[in-house]
Amino acid sequence: MGIEKILIANRGEIALRIHRAAHEMGIKTVAVHSTADADAMHVRLADEAICIGPPAAKDSYLNIPAIISAAEISHADAIHPGYGFLSENQQFAEIVESHDIAWIGPKPEHIGTMGDKVEAKRTAGALGLPLVPGSDGAIEDVEEAKKIASDIGYPVIIKAASGGGGRGMKVVESEEELETQMKQAGTEAKAAFGDATVYLEKYLGNPRHIEFQVFGDGNGAAVHLGERDCSLQRRHQKVLEEAPSPVLSTEERNRMGDVCAKAMADMSYRGAGTIEFLWEDGEFYFIEMNTRLQVEHPVTEMITGIDLVREQIRVAEGKPLSVTQDDISFDGHAVECRINAEDAKTFMPSPGTVSWYHPPGGLYVRVDSGLYHGYKVPPHYDSMIAKLIVYGHSREGCLMRLRRALDEFVIEGMKTTIPLHQALLDDPDFQNGDYTIKWLEEWLDKDAE
Ligand code: ADP
Repeated sequence: MGIEKILIANRGEIALRIHRAAHEMGIKTVAVHSTADADAMHVRLADEAICIGPPAAKDSYLNIPAIISAAEISHADAIHPGYGFLSENQQFAEIVESHDIAWIGPKPEHIGTMGDKVEAKRTAGALGLPLVPGSDGAIEDVEEAKKIASDIGYPVIIKAASGGGGRGMKVVESEEELETQMKQAGTEAKAAFGDATVYLEKYLGNPRHIEFQVFGDGNGAAVHLGERDCSLQRRHQKVLEEAPSPVLSTEERNRMGDVCAKAMADMSYRGAGTIEFLWEDGEFYFIEMNTRLQVEHPVTEMITGIDLVREQIRVAEGKPLSVTQDDISFDGHAVECRINAEDAKTFMPSPGTVSWYHPPGGLYVRVDSGLYHGYKVPPHYDSMIAKLIVYGHSREGCLMRLRRALDEFVIEGMKTTIPLHQALLDDPDFQNGDYTIKWLEEWLDKDAE
């Protein structure tokens, strides 16, 4: 079945990203937007645009009936959810499919399985992925928790089964704290996610965050597209990502990548997915799987030459993957900087009107952004306004080009995190690839002193 018109159930740079892949394939696009986004670039570029509600995301980008109506009115035969919003909502995926609209995403049941972290961990373990040692599923009984914690050793981390976005986690240093922290974690999880289920695992002291991009055709064929190192985080939010990871050898990449691809083949996974691991002392520990396209997918595209959105659309059309594992090679190095409309030191949001805009250009420089001169950044959504992705044949060359590109980037009318990225590039630890998930926050604290 060939898709002729895709409704893009998202906004900002990712809506543009999907629009571009669709147009290159000769597919028409329908933008949906809130009243706050009437002038957004994704609305301007799409073939059709439909307003689906007021600014608040819950009334627009999360408004399932409005989005389905928009698809029906515009005769869209497929929906791409992007990332965030409804992208990992099993019910939405089911509703889309029940309306005979192609869902450009994984099978709804797989979204459900991986969305519950306890279920996800159990599934990952059964598929042969290495896990962080911890409770075998949800944990309710304090005595049982104490026993597991003393077996694996403190510190441990209590996590909410329905948690996400870096929230709903508590580090417990000793047995004395366990009971109160466990109760509190349950109460907080119930309030934040409507589900009090928690589980327990070993807290790794100083790991890196390394994730594998996987892709399946839904019929038992699957590949991996290597890893991304996303260790540079602030409050569990990724700030800068790179591929390949500065610490993995070719052997480690191939070994772990093959384990991931085989797991996806075994579950007949469909579409794009990311398997996230913590990595410490040469060992991988599964933490979760994201059943969608990731913000940082372009670094993978840069080093493999594969258009992941095109691949997603093809698979949703029922076509096989356009590549086999043997066709995929990793060439050079790519870094992505997430540029937010925030103060680069205090991280206070700074939405405003773009009074001057000049994106960098030149060889191997990619900017994914909905910004334009005169555009008013609405205060209602995520503060990320642009992604700068730069490629180089070596990591060193990539970083030199990135420095040049950041220096060229002009966004006036609001504060941005460009100065943060420039300062990062000056740091010898970063230059050497010598960092873990704790590094950035410590570096920021040092700088603040
Ligand atoms: P979320 O879905 O909320 O993003 P994750 O399970 O992916 O939750 O964890 C987010 C981040 O929290 C990780 O990137 C890591 O920084 C930290 N983290 C999670 N589990 C552990 C652990 N067992 N030990 C140490 N840090 C952890």
